[in-house]
Amino acid sequence: MKISERLMRAKPSATLAVNAKAQELRAQGREIVSLAVGEPDFPTPKHVCEALKKAADEGFTRYTPVPGMPALRKAVAEYYGKFYGVKAEAENTIISNGGKHSLYNLCMALVDPGDEVLIPAPYWVSYPPMVELADGKPVIVPTKASNGFLASVEDLEASSTPKTKVLILNTPSNPTGGHYPQAHLDEIAQWAKKRGIFIICDEVYDRLVYEPATFSTLSTFWEKNPEDVAVVGALSKSFSMTGWRVGTTLAHADLVKSIVKIQGQSTSNINSMTQKAAIAAYEGPWDLVDTMREAFQRRRDIAYDIITSWPGVKCSKPDGAFYLFPVLNAFYDEETPDSASMCTKILEEAGIALVPGSAFGDDRCIRFSYAVDDEILKSSLEKVGKVLMKK
Ligand code: GLU
Repeated sequence: MKISERLMRAKPSATLAVNAKAQELRAQGREIVSLAVGEPDFPTPKHVCEALKKAADEGFTRYTPVPGMPALRKAVAEYYGKFYGVKAEAENTIISNGGKHSLYNLCMALVDPGDEVLIPAPYWVSYPPMVELADGKPVIVPTKASNGFLASVEDLEASSTPKTKVLILNTPSNPTGGHYPQAHLDEIAQWAKKRGIFIICDEVYDRLVYEPATFSTLSTFWEKNPEDVAVVGALSKSFSMTGWRVGTTLAHADLVKSIVKIQGQSTSNINSMTQKAAIAAYEGPWDLVDTMREAFQRRRDIAYDIITSWPGVKCSKPDGAFYLFPVLNAFYDEETPDSASMCTKILEEAGIALVPGSAFGDDRCIRFSYAVDDEILKSSLEKVGKVLMKK
């Protein structure tokens, strides 16, 4: 057997690998707290679960159209109207197996062999491998911790070449939690349009933005420039529906048709009963998002205060998502010279799972997900602090 060159080059997902390791240690009887995988700790709202049960009981168990049921596609289009005042039609949307699948499909639809794709670092672990699986070339754009790790037009310009075809933006960001204000996003979008660079904007954390920051989106830019941008969303984070796998793409109808071709030849429609549940989610009520936003903002403050009390740590206070990405290299030494060895040490000595910054393109940092109960968060961070400060 010979695995394809393409796959031999691809790296496994670091976030999922850490999660699997934590689950394996738990199965061995070790007490492990995971501040690793990004997944809200709230249950999926009852009305959403009920809709799935009802769909199963009513025998809604057959294929649906590949891009999703018309009612669900309409609900996604209306989401952009409800929150951002954007006019979109069902034909501008397609439902995929989670935001990750939506992003992968977009890479497959837009990237030709050798095309360069700009990816500001720190980036979510799966962007570069997705580009590589599409035979494109990821071009990592360095950003500065002092700018909250947000890419400026100058940063992007410096990494662009005539071969640059796509830019993958993410706001709020995983792993930094950094959030692009609307004017900043629009400035980047204008620059990309002038340069002929298509933007894939990953907005799966769009509902999780903390005051005084306000929501921002490229869907408004998309409305006026539908051939230049695609916006990815998901129910995973805003409805605590990670395992359900509902990802959405807002795009020009022609791009949607191309993605239908990909799904039609690979995955077909997402689970039919989940689609009924997703419609219930989009119909609301949306109070869980408000509850989660409040809890995550409180936990961000708890985590930020503890982490920044450690000597030599630099960490920006992010406006969104549920991650902190502190620069912790002041604690690296001969025995733990990088983020991976430091995370292994913390897992072994404190039983806390974290994801090394190297997986996100910055080895000086470690990613902390604060989507856990307040008390568990406090006690876990105290344990991490003890490991770091032990000499
Ligand atoms: N997006 C989440 C994370 O970064 C889920 C895991 C994944 O799919 O990578 O932890």
